[in-house]
This record gives sequence, C-alpha cells and structure tokens, in this order.
Amino acid sequence: MLQLPQDAPGSVATGRSGRPLLAICSSGHRRTVPFRLLMASEADRTPLYGRPFKCRACGSREVTLFDIESQAELDHVRTSLPSEEVIRAPTTHRPPDPHADFV
Ligand SMILES: [Zn+2]
Repeated sequence: MLQLPQDAPGSVATGRSGRPLLAICSSGHRRTVPFRLLMASEADRTPLYGRPFKCRACGSREVTLFDIESQAELDHVRTSLPSEEVIRAPTTHRPPDPHADFV
C-alpha cells in the first residue's frame, strides 16, 4: 500500500482496474473510495486531496489516501474494514427463524 503525496493529481487515481483508494481519517477510520467518486480523468492535474472528503464515522475532513496496489491487497483491506452490518441502518426485518421449516 502506497501513501499518496498531498500534491498527487487526480490522474494518479486512473488506470486502476476499478480498484478504489483507501482513505484513513485523522481518527483512524478507514474506508475505500470508489474511483467514480473522485471524478478524475487521465489528464486531471487538480489535487486529489482537493476533493471534499469527509469521514462517515466522525466527520473529519482530514484524510490520508493510499493506493491499493493489487486485488489481493484490496481483499485484505476489505476484511479489515468494519462489516457492512455495523454501518448499515438497523433493520426492521426479523431475522430468519432457524426452526421455520420444522414440522
Ligand atoms: Zn473518522
């Protein structure tokens, strides 16, 4: 995983085979940033850090961006992120009854 410099242009986020960047906020919250949200192009010279990043967990706008270099690394990063269950809104559906198909 490579930390992107503060002056990295938007173009560094292109050509990544769909892999997201990893953003870590000043409080240590981690999330992946899909490329489409960066709205960058190969000719983009505007700073990547100029995007309006905001941590979903604490609202911090101070993030450090990392380049995820391979699919294997992405898989590893995803297993270290909070599970979808934690960040999803509480559901009103009852959990499936494990005994529902008992006669
Ligand atoms: Zn945060």
